[in-house]
Amino acid sequence: MALSLATEVKYIPGVGPRLGELLAAHGVFTVEDLLYHLPFRYEDRSQLRPIQALLSGESGTVVAQVQTLKMTRTRRGMAMLAMTVGDGGGTLQCVWYNADYLKDKFESGQTVALFGKLEREYGRLQMRQPEFEILGEPEEGADEKAGVAHSLKLGRIVPVYEAMGALTSGRLRRLVYRALQDLPGEFPDALPAELRARFKLPERRAALIAVHFPENQTPIEELQEARTPAQIRLILEELFYLQAGLELKRRRVRRQAGPAMISKPAIRESLKRLLPFHPTQDQKSVLREIVLDMQSGRPMRRLLQGDVGSGKTIVALQAAVFAMENNYQVALMAPTQILAEQHYLSAKQRLAGYRVELVLGGAAKRKRATPLLPEPPQLVIGTQALLEGGFQFSRLGLVIVDEQHRFGVLQRFQLMHKGADPATHPAHVLVMTATPIPRTLALALYGDLDTSVIRQSPPGALDIVTRVLPGSRSDDVYEFVRRRCASGRQAYFVYPLVEESEALDLKPAQSMFEKLRTLYPYQVGLLHGKLTPVKKNATMAAFRAGKIQVLVATTVIEVGMDVPNATTMVIEHAERFGIAQLHQLRGRVGRPQPPGMRRASEQSCCILLHGPECGELAQRRLAAVAATRDGFELAEADLKLRGPGEFFGTQQSGAPMFTVAQPLRDQAWMEIARSEARAYLDRAGAAEVRVLVEQIQQRWQRRYGLVEVG
Ligand code: ADP
Ligand code: MG
Repeated sequence: MALSLATEVKYIPGVGPRLGELLAAHGVFTVEDLLYHLPFRYEDRSQLRPIQALLSGESGTVVAQVQTLKMTRTRRGMAMLAMTVGDGGGTLQCVWYNADYLKDKFESGQTVALFGKLEREYGRLQMRQPEFEILGEPEEGADEKAGVAHSLKLGRIVPVYEAMGALTSGRLRRLVYRALQDLPGEFPDALPAELRARFKLPERRAALIAVHFPENQTPIEELQEARTPAQIRLILEELFYLQAGLELKRRRVRRQAGPAMISKPAIRESLKRLLPFHPTQDQKSVLREIVLDMQSGRPMRRLLQGDVGSGKTIVALQAAVFAMENNYQVALMAPTQILAEQHYLSAKQRLAGYRVELVLGGAAKRKRATPLLPEPPQLVIGTQALLEGGFQFSRLGLVIVDEQHRFGVLQRFQLMHKGADPATHPAHVLVMTATPIPRTLALALYGDLDTSVIRQSPPGALDIVTRVLPGSRSDDVYEFVRRRCASGRQAYFVYPLVEESEALDLKPAQSMFEKLRTLYPYQVGLLHGKLTPVKKNATMAAFRAGKIQVLVATTVIEVGMDVPNATTMVIEHAERFGIAQLHQLRGRVGRPQPPGMRRASEQSCCILLHGPECGELAQRRLAAVAATRDGFELAEADLKLRGPGEFFGTQQSGAPMFTVAQPLRDQAWMEIARSEARAYLDRAGAAEVRVLVEQIQQRWQRRYGLVEVG
């Protein structure tokens, strides 16, 4: 049977239902999915050298016969396999630790390929933990049709795939080969021809063949770094469709009418009056951009990026006043109740004269959070429950989403969709995020939005000294905090969890609260997600008023808490937090000091205490956080340590961001894809756009919800 790209993998000869299921479990449903599952590295087996010619210190591939095998146990009981291989001229020793999984894998006489770093040990050439492939019998002959030469695993540059359970790299290689062989000679290539021509990129079919089975003369370094034309073609293809999708979405919204607002002197006056301080230059220009958007007659779709403490809130409140003065209602959404309540408090204080209402979801919903106002509120503050039917707006003009990074990618699309009531005029939308993300990723996540950035921090912000210490030093730390509180300042203690967990041996917030209460001559408060809203509020208010000096809390304080007098933070079990979270938490101290509160040469202090179980990766996270407060640097470090899937928290939804592209490696291509996509859409005719939309829907719908692009 001839295959097509859309054929289910189980119909590839040699697959069947069982392997089909295994592949599906790894997100590979169709022939196309399989072909876009690219090798993660390549081995140059085109010109194998005899063992005798190999040098210690180099990495390479050896093909030889198994001679001896010996499974032993180390003193600590770990299985260790030692194997010698020879090629007639020389011998090589291979060693694997934790080698139980290799029991009965090899037999003497077998031909194997080994890949690893060569070392000399007591005069013998050795590879530790080499990757291997059992070559066995030579396999089926050449098939010119697929453009692939003789053997798939010898005498060529060999692709190495991430194994999927029982599907080893070798088996995947054969499957890919079969699929390529059975595909028709041509298949649709929607990537614009002029784009391909400009970058001298191969067609889709040729690119797929070259990526899986590269010609022997392809420079191996270019392959490893994804710089061959074939790889670039596939990367650009993926990013181009993504950017085209985001751009179509953008243009679609821009074609609609939005609430047209006007600016006049009286309104500008009320915006100024709102400010208890002089705005920074960045705050001013961002506000100008927002106000222009809201006057444009088109719905605003704007992202406001600014690091923790850069002063986004006041800009958002100004935007809200602008809308309210234009007779529109405003919705302000925060990711947590605590933050919603905090916004409510500061709005009440700053926006005297406007009707502000707090709406909470869940248990709190039944009891209205604020007394019913005689007239409809102008500003409604709440969690996302607001848009889930929590409130009926009569004249919604502006939706503000705070701390957007706490909502997922898909959730944002949903929120914005709901915020924009298509029946009437779609509201203006302003999303704010404090998670600085590398530019490539910003383009991927927010490519459909216009962006504004606040780079300066407000005057009066304190320096923060960050220290990483082992938990064994905690007594010293408690004493240190006591001294800092003695000068009238306040402190946070942050814990990963609320409840005792024997398995994890965490010092829970509850018992620490008890302990600090007896240790300190101060009022100590406890704040966590399981308290009733009333209790939470009371504790927050007391801390804000300085009636509580030390606040023991879980990560509920991660976002938005703003108590300038709190200048010390201790994070216990810091190894359990991610970089972004630590950065957010630390942002709670070092807040700008109102003029009356400033003290000369004072610093804020953040202490990261880690338990004995702090692994190497965690050590590196803590070191990164201690090394810089630059959110962008931290974001890159985070991305490098975690990889993009987890970085976005999209893993749980089973939707990886990219299949071919890698955000850090391919930054430049993301930029190119964006400008190319825009240019293409400017000149493309309706028929071409239709083809493009089909491609986008096929590829990105599952991952991005880019459904309504057309
Ligand atoms: P974030 O961007 O993290 O939401 P906030 O809006 O909470 O930051 O602002 C952090 C703190 O800085 C707040 O206490 C706020 O009142 C103060 N602030 C904001 N802008 C200025 C400014 N221009 N001058 C002085 N203080 C400011
Ligand atoms: Mg904020």
